[in-house]
Amino acid sequence: MRSDFDETRRQLLAGSVALATASYARHGLAATSSGSPTPVDEGTVAGGRVSFPAIDASTEQPGAPPPNPDVPGQRVGFAVVGLGRLALQNILPAFAQSKHARLTGLVSGDSEKMRVIAAQYGVPKEACYSYEEMARLRNNASIQVVYVVLPNALHRDAVIQAARAGKHVLCEKPMATGPEEAREMIAACREAARKLMIAYRCQYEVNNVELAKRARSGELGDIQFIDAINSQNQGDPTQWRQIKKLAGGGSLPDVGLYCLNTARALLGEEPSEVIASIHSPEHDPRFREVESTVSFILRFPSGILANCASSYSAHEQRNFRVLGSKAAAEITNAFAYEGQKLHMSRRDAQAEAKVELNLGVKNQFSLEMDHMALCVRNNVEPRTPGEEGLQDQILMSAIYQSAQTGQPISLKPELRRDAFRGPPPDDRHA
Ligand code: NDP
Repeated sequence: MRSDFDETRRQLLAGSVALATASYARHGLAATSSGSPTPVDEGTVAGGRVSFPAIDASTEQPGAPPPNPDVPGQRVGFAVVGLGRLALQNILPAFAQSKHARLTGLVSGDSEKMRVIAAQYGVPKEACYSYEEMARLRNNASIQVVYVVLPNALHRDAVIQAARAGKHVLCEKPMATGPEEAREMIAACREAARKLMIAYRCQYEVNNVELAKRARSGELGDIQFIDAINSQNQGDPTQWRQIKKLAGGGSLPDVGLYCLNTARALLGEEPSEVIASIHSPEHDPRFREVESTVSFILRFPSGILANCASSYSAHEQRNFRVLGSKAAAEITNAFAYEGQKLHMSRRDAQAEAKVELNLGVKNQFSLEMDHMALCVRNNVEPRTPGEEGLQDQILMSAIYQSAQTGQPISLKPELRRDAFRGPPPDDRHA
């Protein structure tokens, strides 16, 4: 039966075709014979994926292809452990943009909060666990990965419990509160033959990835210097971040770690020496136990110097600069959740040119979870495995030691490139 709506739609289409035909004729173009869409408009379906051909001129930035997510039942199931700010504000919403991961379980010490969140995200009651019940994760086949989002000092136990329950583990940064804990976590996952990835989201964020690619390709010339700052002004002195037993340290392991890890990841080299200095405002209740500002220099075997700083008492700044012999680059908001801008500066004929690269916006939490999901599915080592987290723990211990002694600290030489990393994420899945 033909409805009024169908009739209106037909008239509308007929009208559009007539208008388009007249317009084509005016421009000397042949009109299509009917109003039916062509493959250019409809796209094509092949191998379970939908694609569209480019419709803009080759001079234009190519549009992003459709994401083509896996069907929900085939995605790798994740249980999130610890329903705090990062989990609720960033990680759980990011599953909506994930292509290979889905939320299938929750672990929390607060059953009422967990009930509310489980209802919001459609997690069944049977897939909600307390910390004491984590061994029962073993019986839930819909959970393949456990994502640990707890205060730093609690990572170790949760990772070990998850591995012993037969689950792969994604663990928030900093991996632990010191190298010994990190080694135990690696050993437990190895023993259980489970993967361990540390959630270094900046190694999956598109602007950081692009800059690392360009720097490594030689586009900036020989890299001379890196300048990295990550600061934020902390409030409530009672939060776990200001308690040494739970945090392991102050601004260094929380935000300074991004400067350290991003410099290492961009260069692929490991520092041969660190020198550091620390300052905390006196009589400030926030810094009774942990430090505020840490300034540290990393010296790399190639001679490159990275000047890094973190603070818990300075206004938010999260910038990363790389100076090469031919060009300089800067990512503003480099370590933020969003708002990254990548600028490149170089000579252009008789002028100095500064260009901003628009790489599009992608949720870095979804990208890192998708990387973990694919590593599990394809049995590949994650780009940022436990060993990458351990190396940062070793370097942060050296940074504290240097600040304490006032002396530079030499590190065990490591001349392998990307010594502690797995293969980079496969672009075809991004
Ligand atoms: P929050 O304080 O917001 O949440 C931590 C959650 O851990 C709590 O809500 C609670 O969840 C659980 N918890 C269990 N035991 C304790 C305890 N003794 N004290 C406090 N909380 C406890 O922390 P964040 O979400 O900001 O940080 C969690 C982790 O994520 C940290 O390792 C941090 O470094 C990392 N992080 C990483 C970021 C990134 O960009 N990658 C950004 C921010 C944090 P419940 O009530 O469910 O038990």
